[in-house]
Amino acid sequence: MIPRHHLPIVDPELDALIVQEEKRQHDGLLMIASENLASDAVLEAAGTVLTNKYAEGYPGKRYYTGAQYIDQIEQLAIDRAKKLFGAEHANVQPNAGSGANLACYFALLEPGDTILAMNLSHGGHLTHGHPVSLSGKLFHFVHYGVEQDTEMINMDNVAALAREVKPKLILSGFTSYPRAVPFSRFAEIAREVGAYAMADMSHIAGLVVGGVHESPVPTHDVVMTTTTKTLRGPRSAIILCKEQFAKQIDKMVFPGMQGGPLEHIIAAKAVCFKEAMTDEYKKYQQQIAINAKVLAETLMAEGLRLVSGGTDTHLMIIDCTPLGISGKQGADTLAECGIYANFNMIPFDTRKPADPSGIRLGTPALTARGMKEPEMKVIGKLIADLLKNPTDEQKEKTKGTVREMTSK
Ligand SMILES: *Cc1c(COP(=O)(O)O)cnc(C)c1O
Repeated sequence: MIPRHHLPIVDPELDALIVQEEKRQHDGLLMIASENLASDAVLEAAGTVLTNKYAEGYPGKRYYTGAQYIDQIEQLAIDRAKKLFGAEHANVQPNAGSGANLACYFALLEPGDTILAMNLSHGGHLTHGHPVSLSGKLFHFVHYGVEQDTEMINMDNVAALAREVKPKLILSGFTSYPRAVPFSRFAEIAREVGAYAMADMSHIAGLVVGGVHESPVPTHDVVMTTTTKTLRGPRSAIILCKEQFAKQIDKMVFPGMQGGPLEHIIAAKAVCFKEAMTDEYKKYQQQIAINAKVLAETLMAEGLRLVSGGTDTHLMIIDCTPLGISGKQGADTLAECGIYANFNMIPFDTRKPADPSGIRLGTPALTARGMKEPEMKVIGKLIADLLKNPTDEQKEKTKGTVREMTSK
């Protein structure tokens, strides 16, 4: 936590709310798979006077004077992103993942073009063609999904669908798919049918850096990632691409979609990339995956059903159907006891998105707090006991254990 000297005096009302949120994050088990705990160094960079600077354009080509230091800061972020992921080109300006995905589509395609992407209830993101998202309104999405029996992607089916619909772009990388994404196979299929290969590695970028998951960067034309989630940076995004697409991508991010970049957040991204180059960070990413395996095994040993029967990544999805509750009921019960997760659709869900059948759990934030295999076993048992038997007595017991674990 970073001390605040002015905010408590200038705006005590707001400061008090931040204090409460700090306490919630400290006293709870943060298991929302897309959340993480950014380092104090990342938070410090995000809270600097860089927020004062207007810097439309790119390093060396700004529309405003006085950008000599901003240029160096943004260039540092670009160079580090390229080095970290082995990319030919990096755009570090996208404010968030959703806009960055749109920028990629518009850079490569015309409105109405066909994009092949993952079914949203099987793990795809809203920006992968949901009708309420601009992506779904402006492009023609066709979706592949997982198989009903394995709840995993069958790449032969994806290939067959790609040959049939001849998309202009094939998108892989997901938001709630617990298994490894076969990126090189996706790229192969895209090449075969003459489509652009795009990956959205938002959830797993940290695991990619840690060597726990295959990188899409060598095989894909364009790769988007948020810098939050496993990567553990500020709430933002970047786009990596091959040199041949650099101009199109840059032009679509600015001036296509955004104005002045958030240079304080770009600085925080640069810090995150530096941290990500250390051995300690790689060990952290490996531990995230180990923790997820142990947590998944514990939940299954306690009789819970996990979508696809386990995990290869940082996340897993409990199917609450056999427990006789909905995912929302389950997630609300967990939250009451200080265990934060989100309710989630499961493949072939018969329930509605606002009250679906699944609970998604992730290990990035717990691992950032230094928790390892023994803690995962305790937490797995805790979650299973509570979901199977959500009585007041069990809730009190759970709250006590959560308090004990987070105060260490
Ligand atoms: C989180 C996520 C996004 C969107 O990121 P925002 O920064 O929330 O807009 C896009 N794609 C995937 C796969 C994600 O998991």
